[in-house]
Amino acid sequence: MLDKKYNFTEKEKKWQDYWFDNDIYKFDKNSNKPIYSIDTPPPTINGHIHMGHLSSYTHIETVARHHRMKGENVYFPFGFDDNGLPTERYVEKIIKKRAYDLPRQKFIEICLDETKKLEDEFFDLYKSAGFSCNLKEHYSSISPNTQKISQKSFLDLLKKGYIYQDKAPSLWCTECQTACAQSELEDMEVESTFNYLKFYIAGKKEYVTVATTRPEMLCGVVCVFINPNDKKNAHLLKEKLVVPHFGFEVPVYADDLVSLDKGSGVVMCCTFGDNVDKEWQRKHNLPIKECFTSNGKMTVLAKEFEGMGIIACRKAIIEKLDEEDLLIKQEKITHTVSTHDRCGTPVEIEVKKQWFIDVLSHKKELYDAGMQLNWHPQNMRARYLNWVKIYRGIGALPVKDITVCLSLFGIAKSAEK
Ligand SMILES: [Zn+2]
Repeated sequence: MLDKKYNFTEKEKKWQDYWFDNDIYKFDKNSNKPIYSIDTPPPTINGHIHMGHLSSYTHIETVARHHRMKGENVYFPFGFDDNGLPTERYVEKIIKKRAYDLPRQKFIEICLDETKKLEDEFFDLYKSAGFSCNLKEHYSSISPNTQKISQKSFLDLLKKGYIYQDKAPSLWCTECQTACAQSELEDMEVESTFNYLKFYIAGKKEYVTVATTRPEMLCGVVCVFINPNDKKNAHLLKEKLVVPHFGFEVPVYADDLVSLDKGSGVVMCCTFGDNVDKEWQRKHNLPIKECFTSNGKMTVLAKEFEGMGIIACRKAIIEKLDEEDLLIKQEKITHTVSTHDRCGTPVEIEVKKQWFIDVLSHKKELYDAGMQLNWHPQNMRARYLNWVKIYRGIGALPVKDITVCLSLFGIAKSAEK
């Protein structure tokens, strides 16, 4: 008989505790029933619990209960993603200090303490929502066990020759001081200026106009490009050009990536302003000149601007160029820049020693694995297959981009750290 007035706070608590204490949803390793296994996304421990966390688990919950009612042995694990940048940024905000201001071990201890507090909160909420995952045996992506699995998988890949270390241009966030995966980038519209600069022909009084949104990178210019079919500028191929303000000379090369109908048709190349610079550096074997330090300060190449922040230097150098009559004009523009989704800082391309995993040699296996799966909805298959087909990259993906591929190989998740 139901109470006249149903007290849900009392009744829900009673049954949730009963399920929990009696391991009602524990996965039975010894059962002969068919296994239905769910790869649950562990919520990220970064301080933001929102409706999305609960609503996404509601979908999974419906599927889990359906298969349990069909008599299957449902594996429905639960865990926390408490490892990596989102958690570190969260802790930095709480303690109002940056990780690099503290000894490494101290920061790790604070991270473990703070995440524990938040996890208890998350845990209670997931329990109170009545989810039937195996809450008692929850995992953590920073636990010694997970670290062991990651390291084992890393060494396994290394032994098989899939992993190598290389010094190569990588996406870099100067705020978080970490390499970024492509999936961590977010496009942002920003106001900027196109600066039209005078590049004098060495030994002559003539100049050509070069437009750039990044005058702070002039100290890192390695050459200038024109289009091979550009008759108007073809004579420059025999000349050298003088980089404004800095005064050093750079060669002029031809490359068909330079657009014939945009601006003056003369483009500066620095290592590295963007992905085209990256491609040019490889193709033409250009020297590498690093303009910025890991924390976004100008390097010694910037001479009197050394130590300045990127934006401050941009402003200062524009003033200098104007003073020296090397700035022809400025045009206000709005353009899209790639920013780091964790902090909104525009990402740079910096040369870093990193681990890489060779993925391109496995394109066929990745493609075939995608064909074998049943996709819901179906159109996600096409999206995945296109991603495998068109990815050219540089022959390998940074370790951070690799999680998806690893799980398709049946290898334990993310060997990131
Ligand atoms: Zn960042």
